[in-house]
Amino acid sequence: MKAMFRSSNRLTCFVGGVWGTVLVMLALLILGLLSGFVESPFGTAALPPQPAQVSVPLETPAPIVVAARLAEAASPTPTHVVPTLVFTPTPTPLPLPTQPKQGFSIVETPHYPPTPSPTFIPTVVPFMEGPITIGKSVEQREIQVYRFGTGASKRLIIAGVHGGYEWNTVALADALIEHLTANPQIVPPHVTLYVLRVLNPDGYARSFGYEGRANANNVDINRNFPVDWAESWAPQGCWSHLPITSGPHPISEPETAALIGFVVQKRIQAMISYHSAALGIFAGGVPPAPQSASLAKALAEVSTYPHPPINTGCDATGQMADWASSLGIASVDVELHTHYATDFQENLRVLDAFFAWEYFQGSK
Ligand SMILES: [Zn+2]
Repeated sequence: MKAMFRSSNRLTCFVGGVWGTVLVMLALLILGLLSGFVESPFGTAALPPQPAQVSVPLETPAPIVVAARLAEAASPTPTHVVPTLVFTPTPTPLPLPTQPKQGFSIVETPHYPPTPSPTFIPTVVPFMEGPITIGKSVEQREIQVYRFGTGASKRLIIAGVHGGYEWNTVALADALIEHLTANPQIVPPHVTLYVLRVLNPDGYARSFGYEGRANANNVDINRNFPVDWAESWAPQGCWSHLPITSGPHPISEPETAALIGFVVQKRIQAMISYHSAALGIFAGGVPPAPQSASLAKALAEVSTYPHPPINTGCDATGQMADWASSLGIASVDVELHTHYATDFQENLRVLDAFFAWEYFQGSK
């Protein structure tokens, strides 16, 4: 230092020279340290943080965009393809069944299948029906009828009133039932025909001889009807091969009751009762009722059965034909020619005449 002071005189010339220069440089150094533009040789620990470095703006990542464009150019398929609109009809989904909502099940209308409303289906009545049981005999045999047709005019053929003794009338009834079944077209639309094949099934089962005439109570059914009924009758001119009765009172026999019930219930308008043998065609009623006489005449015109019938002089009582005629029913007895033949062809003509017959008040 002494040297430095010793030479201060010389340095004095350097105040504006060497020392001045040093002083200026020191001043600049201090100013630079204070302003931060000159790095401190003492480290940066003593310097405040430099927030200016954080504020440097970031660059946009341009290289990514470039890479995407390069990939686009390298692709052989253009990425901007206008899509071709192909209209594919999408099936409309069917509505799902409505689920009943909780708490609203009463309000919801259940999707039950439609209930068919009650419709009256016309009842188809078959052309033929039978056998139909209308009652039972004394020995509990069934009394049966067959029905043919559905017309309003109800007509009835009865056989076997005198059981086995007149068995050929039952054979005729069976033949007619078979014929009607095979030829339904012969029944006119306005007619319903009933055929009762055997009214006295007990007598029919017992014998084809004299013993087969009465029912199981030894009653002649054709003396048991409630018109001109009598407890007994004079034998002159009447069937008298065996003792036979008219029953204790009219309609005492179940066979009689069955027939009366059927005729009344069905409102039978005309009836033929077959017997044998040989006496001809009888009209019901004493004297003959007009409708019964008309029917007897119509049947006689197509047959060889005697009419007026052969009069044997028998005063018959309690007869079926007389009872029916008293109710306005056209009722006749037809006696076959023999005790063994059905006279089938002749009775086909009688059947046609029976179908065609109509009674008009006042006609003869
Ligand atoms: Zn008879």
